[in-house]
Amino acid sequence: MAPRFYNTLTGRIEPFEPLEPGHARIYSCGPTVYDRAHVGNFRTFVWEDLLRRFLKFRGYRVTQVMNVTDVDDRTIRAAIESGMTLEEVTRPVEAQFFEDWKTLGLEPMEHHPRATEHVDTMIALVRRLEERGLTYERDGSVYFAISRSPEYGRLARLDPEGARAAGRVEGDEEYSKEDPRDFVLWKGGERGEESVAVWDSPWGLGRPGWHLECSAMSMEYLGESFDIHTGGVDNIFPHHTNEMAQSEGATGRPLARYWLHAEHLLVDGGKMSKSLGNYYTIPDLLDRGYRPSAIRYLLLSAHYRTQLNFTLPGLNTAERALERLAEFGRRLLDQVAGEPSPSPGVEGGSHPIAILADQARAAFRDAMDEDLSASDALAAIFTFVREANRELDAAPGGPRAGEVEAALAVLQDFDAVFGVLSLRETEVSPDDPAVRAWVEGRIAARDEARAARDYERADAIRREVEERGFRLEDTPDGTRWKATTSGLPT
Ligand code: AMP
Ligand code: ZN
Repeated sequence: MAPRFYNTLTGRIEPFEPLEPGHARIYSCGPTVYDRAHVGNFRTFVWEDLLRRFLKFRGYRVTQVMNVTDVDDRTIRAAIESGMTLEEVTRPVEAQFFEDWKTLGLEPMEHHPRATEHVDTMIALVRRLEERGLTYERDGSVYFAISRSPEYGRLARLDPEGARAAGRVEGDEEYSKEDPRDFVLWKGGERGEESVAVWDSPWGLGRPGWHLECSAMSMEYLGESFDIHTGGVDNIFPHHTNEMAQSEGATGRPLARYWLHAEHLLVDGGKMSKSLGNYYTIPDLLDRGYRPSAIRYLLLSAHYRTQLNFTLPGLNTAERALERLAEFGRRLLDQVAGEPSPSPGVEGGSHPIAILADQARAAFRDAMDEDLSASDALAAIFTFVREANRELDAAPGGPRAGEVEAALAVLQDFDAVFGVLSLRETEVSPDDPAVRAWVEGRIAARDEARAARDYERADAIRREVEERGFRLEDTPDGTRWKATTSGLPT
């Protein structure tokens, strides 16, 4: 059976049937590189990585594109405010983005195009829309005429009034538009400081509109019609709605068959966002001693269509849950490494761990098949770990031949999709200066507390360090520390 996904376009969970059998083509809207992405943005990006890994796990070839938005209102404003060129602003932020990407164990996608390197394609797309009579020009800017696009707003289920009201919110060049709902395809003019980003075009100097960028780049790398388009829920309107209107207006074909959207990461019940200032970046969390695998685990642990409240205690809980899985992996590997034990005859020929493993793998796959139900998939894995641990405790002669391998296969399936155990294996090395500095800083604080006879505080620090996965050992030469991490064989 094919995996099924909730399609925002139809409002239903539907079986995934790619246009080309066995090949999934996906466009995922990328970051706007005016400032470092926060962990909320990464909820969406990590989920897009989960989707990719899951489709690969289910045997599909994946071609996935994520753009870099390196020209738009925000990047231009950042350049103007800092007196730098657009590139001077965007390139370092882009480098930070890919650094965080790697830290969280995201796989590189097949294409990561920059908007500024595809302006010709964007201009060509506006020309196509012009030829089809869907645009008009005002003062060197080109607008998309929504009144000539009868299906406009289908994705966001906008009624014409809703679209009108929402269009006003956008509010750019209100007075030159025929209709307030219309949006800009090409923003004309070398108006004052805006000259930090201008290209020549048939309409004079100007720059592309944000929505146009994704339409042009998706078409260039995936063709006029592809399978899955993803982003956060805030992309549904106006961004994806306008992308759809432009692309479909130009080609007369559906842009994407499945539109998948991730819910937001919240802080204290509100959206985590730059403008509210209520955010953490990935380095913020690493500086506090959190591990990338725990961050990744937390972001993936809730269903992508439910909001997830972000808290630091939540990260500690994620760390402990993940450590339980890693610990189980270590236990299994110890069994493999140990002396082969004589297999005690199991009455009736049953192989309890192997049977549990088969059940767990099926339950994991079924949960992920049903609209990437990560929380149900994790529940299946934890049930297995609990029951398999019980079986291991109860079998004094050790597991029977094949059982450890069956159990490891469960963890391998899980990690092929979630990518947390393999990440954990790579990350906590005592050689990592950031990790070392954090642990040693906490040890120094604990020593101070002990010198002041504040044993309560000293114990609290020890617990804090242990919760993050480090073991402290007091010796006559001072306190030593060790990472208690492990993972699966690669
Ligand atoms: P931006 O760089 O603002 O274009 O956003 C990049 C991606 O992050 C988009 O797919 C947004 O939908 C997503 N995003 C923004 N804020 C959040 C949040 N608080 N939680 C989850 N995703 C978000
Ligand atoms: Zn986009």
